[in-house]
Amino acid sequence: MAGMSQDHPTNGHEHGHEHPHDHSELGEMDLRVRALESVLTQKGYIDPAALDALIDTYQTRIGPRNGARVVARAWVDRAFHDWLMADATAAIASLGYTGRQGEHMVAVENTDEQHHMVVCTLCSCYPWPVLGLPPTWYKSAPYRSRAVKDPRGVLADFGTTLPETTRIRVWDSTAEVRYLVIPQRPAGTEGLSEEELAALVSRDSMIGTRLVEAPSAGSAA
Ligand code: FE
Repeated sequence: MAGMSQDHPTNGHEHGHEHPHDHSELGEMDLRVRALESVLTQKGYIDPAALDALIDTYQTRIGPRNGARVVARAWVDRAFHDWLMADATAAIASLGYTGRQGEHMVAVENTDEQHHMVVCTLCSCYPWPVLGLPPTWYKSAPYRSRAVKDPRGVLADFGTTLPETTRIRVWDSTAEVRYLVIPQRPAGTEGLSEEELAALVSRDSMIGTRLVEAPSAGSAA
């Protein structure tokens, strides 16, 4: 029997800052939300199809494809890259990606010397407009605690091995600031279009737990 739940803590969840929590407790609130949804639907207050459309918006339309387009643009357009690094909120907004949980964006760029990864140690703060809804592991207690204490070990769990000479910096998201990791553009992608590059950029690479891989040599991109 597991000694402790890995689910979101309901106690000891105090924050040292103003922190809207409506986004962070879906796991523990799941049953209650479903019950409430049923009642409200039965009474005709809400339309389940509208709810589904809202969820779909965050999972697919607003999802990580948006962030991937930001990354690809930064890879091919030096001026956009520089703008993104200087004022990520404005640069990202210029592509049309704005909204809740993305009001104050900071872009951090991976290099050979410096790798960045993002966590919310307190709950699950996450840049919705560019990455959509956070994956379950991002909200898990083990990730939230180990990302800070043992980032290299967490990366290994994701199958990501960095040279010992690469420093790892972990950014702790807050209600105020959300981070977007700009992964390194893989070698061998010089001939790819911006759209083809965006297709290579995974959600996890923009959280910093994985790298972007070049398309395998066999597949003509
Ligand atoms: Fe949070």
